[in-house]
Formats: sequence, structure tokens, C-alpha cells
Amino acid sequence: PRQFFVGGNFKMNGVGESLTNIVNNLNSAELDPNTEVVVAPPTLYLQLVRQAANEKIGVSAQNVFDKPNGAFTGEVSVEQLKDLNIKWTLIGHSERRVILKEDDNFVARKTKSAIDGGLSVILCIGESLEEREANQTIDVVTRQLRAVAQSITKEQWSKVVIAYEPIWAIGTGKVATTEQAQEVHAAIREWLKTDISPEVAENTRIIYGGSVSEKNCRDLAKEADVDGFLVGGASLKPAFVEIVNSRV
Ligand code: 13P
Repeated sequence: PRQFFVGGNFKMNGVGESLTNIVNNLNSAELDPNTEVVVAPPTLYLQLVRQAANEKIGVSAQNVFDKPNGAFTGEVSVEQLKDLNIKWTLIGHSERRVILKEDDNFVARKTKSAIDGGLSVILCIGESLEEREANQTIDVVTRQLRAVAQSITKEQWSKVVIAYEPIWAIGTGKVATTEQAQEVHAAIREWLKTDISPEVAENTRIIYGGSVSEKNCRDLAKEADVDGFLVGGASLKPAFVEIVNSRV
């Protein structure tokens, strides 16, 4: 059985005071002990959030660079994250793929570097509206996964949570239907089974992201291949607790 996983991606939101309030709220909330909870604050506040959050709450970076150190202005290394006791990083979020022009190979290299260095990775994949309307959804997500599969070993998939985030659903209030989410999650699991191994398919968490709210989370969480959520906007609000508790 795969442990339910709920991530909160704060994106470029919050300052010290508001982020401290969010973490204090989570510390005192009754969170389903069966759910793994990980929050991803802006880089600058990773240390603050790691120190403020209790030990049940995981903390994730939103990005990491693929080189160990050196002349890479503005970037952050795996070693630096580990030095702050950060155990997770997001990689390949669509905002980075689209706005910062990160391609599949760069995402794959960063995933390899992060896992080789001892981090776990929330690997984000997903299609645009145009790609969905052209019936390319499964082609796009398997292409994104294939690049990573060529860079990491079969064993390293145990360090990956796959976040399926259709771009058209992110920040739009236009959540995928339960059928749409389940269909893609099942296709991803089938791809893992045939291209990696049945064991990896069975054990890898595939979480959904894109306009998840306290209103739609319970129905989505009932789907067989939806193992949790990656939450943007709602992770900044008290409603995040209800999403963490989707299955109670
Ligand atoms: P929203 O929940 O705000 O749609 O964002 C989803 C997301 O991009 C999480 O990484």
C-alpha cells in the first residue's frame, strides 16, 4: 500500500511572518498520521520553515541545480539543501519548464543529481491545454518520464514521487475531473510497469496537482491511482489541513 502524500507548493509567495503563521497552523492542526505531508517554501525561507515546522512535516525545495558547486550564479546545490536538513526537492514544475525554459534533459539531470546526492524528488509532469486537445497527453507525460528513466536506476525510483499536473488546471480553478486524473495516473502506472518494473509501478506514488481544493480533494482521493496531491494556492490557507485529511 502506497502512503498518501500531500505536498504544499508555496511557489513565490509569503514572507517570514506569513510563512511562520502557516507553519504554526500546521503544527497545531490534527493531521492524518497516515498522510505524508511536505511543504515547499521559497528557497530563502527553507531554513526558517525547517526550524519552525515539527518533525512530522517534511520540507522541500522548489528547485535545485544539477552541478555540485561552482560558478552558477543564483543557483542552489544539493549539498546546501542537505546542510539545512532539507530532504526533498520539487523538480520540473511546469512554471519552470515554461517560464524558465527547462527542458526534459535538464529536468532529468537535476533529478539524477538530487537523488545521487541523497534527496527525494517530487517530479512534476503534465501537458498543456493544446497538447490535451490534440490527444497528446499520454505521449507528453511518458516523454517527460522517459528522459528521467534514462538518467536514474530502477532502484532510484523509490526516491521519486510523480506529480501529474496538467498545466491547464494549475491556478485556473479548472480542476481535472476524477475520470481525467484517474485515466492519466493509470496510464503513468502502466508505463512504469512496462518500461521500469511491476514493482516500481506498484510502489511509486502518483499525486495530482492543479486547482486542488478542500471541495474537490475527497472525490479525487477515492480514485485507485491517485496517491495524493500537490497543492498550490490552497496550501497557503487553512484549507490545506482538510486536503491533508482527504482520506479520513
Ligand atoms: P494550484 O493548486 O494553485 O492550482 O497549483 C498547483 C501547482 O502548481 C502545485 O505545484
